[in-house]
Amino acid sequence: MAGFDRLIAGNNSPQRGEGGVGFLFSSRYMPCPQCGGSIERSAEYSHHCNPERLVEYQLFRLRPGIADFEAALHTYLESARGRVEVASAARQVRKDLD
Ligand SMILES: [Zn+2]
Repeated sequence: MAGFDRLIAGNNSPQRGEGGVGFLFSSRYMPCPQCGGSIERSAEYSHHCNPERLVEYQLFRLRPGIADFEAALHTYLESARGRVEVASAARQVRKDLD
């Protein structure tokens, strides 16, 4: 276990052997929960998200849900009820074009 701690903390961890606190590593930076950007902890409350990065990060977080939705939609459209819906929609489109 000591080898594992050394691997994570390095050989010169400032908190090892200082009062028996054990391994604690606190980065100076943290990820912004809104945009995922790296922000300095001391600037946490003055951080303003870059709008472009915010949108990209939010889309990135939605990807699994979008993929799940697409899979569920295809499954539905291949079901008997889904095929009826597709045929009905196609009929409606043809009707609207006439
Ligand atoms: Zn941010």
